[in-house]
Amino acid sequence: MALVHSELCVGCGKCVPYCPMGAISLSGGVASIDQDECVECGLCTENAICPKKALYAPESFPWPRVLRSEFSNPHCPHRTGVTGRGTEEMKTNDVTGRYRFGKLGFAVELGRPGTGARFRDMEKVTMALAKIPGVHFEEKNPVYALIEDPHSGKMRDDVLDEKVLSGIVEIMIDEAQLPDVLQALKQVEPTLDTVCSVDLISRVQADGSIPALDVVRKLGYYVSPNCKTNLGFGHL
Ligand code: SF4
Ligand code: SF4
Repeated sequence: MALVHSELCVGCGKCVPYCPMGAISLSGGVASIDQDECVECGLCTENAICPKKALYAPESFPWPRVLRSEFSNPHCPHRTGVTGRGTEEMKTNDVTGRYRFGKLGFAVELGRPGTGARFRDMEKVTMALAKIPGVHFEEKNPVYALIEDPHSGKMRDDVLDEKVLSGIVEIMIDEAQLPDVLQALKQVEPTLDTVCSVDLISRVQADGSIPALDVVRKLGYYVSPNCKTNLGFGHL
């Protein structure tokens, strides 16, 4: 866990604004880190912010705290081997062609710098989505690795209190399932103790239309269309 050598700290406060979780404060003239809020992003310990080198991290983290680092620090390798935050499959659709007409990629992003997200909230989403017949969780996803029962969406009990900067729950669905999925998410949203946004991945029809967008708008979601082109350098 990110720690402070209190005998080295001079209480200059330089480190305080760098923490994306607001976990660092000054107490009694020295820096103090709220360990429950710290997501082990490594920003304060890896970037020479402290003029006295008073901030440090242990060589390794115990389970399950290590998950904070794996989900929040881009320098920390993840046990699943999935790079990024888990949308690799969705972002490479134009290379893999996985999302065909009639299929949709659906992702729920929980947490952001400033709020973070606990796996307890991610479990609320996975359990709500798992109740919909035919929903299939994407397996190349760091959150999926913590689900102990894909049929119920139940995650491991020992990870639920861990907090990370953000996590993404991903599923693939038939287009016809979209209203049920959005309704399930609407019901669970008020119970979440964090922010969330929804990503929808769809092929565009030959006439340029995206039928799924009408469904999303009818259910009151604000739509922000995005397009991404992968050059596929990995295949050269
Ligand atoms: S930057 Fe270093 S010396 Fe200054 S308050 Fe933070 S830990 Fe202490
Ligand atoms: S490791 Fe990240 S979250 Fe933890 S105290 Fe440092 S900057 Fe804040």
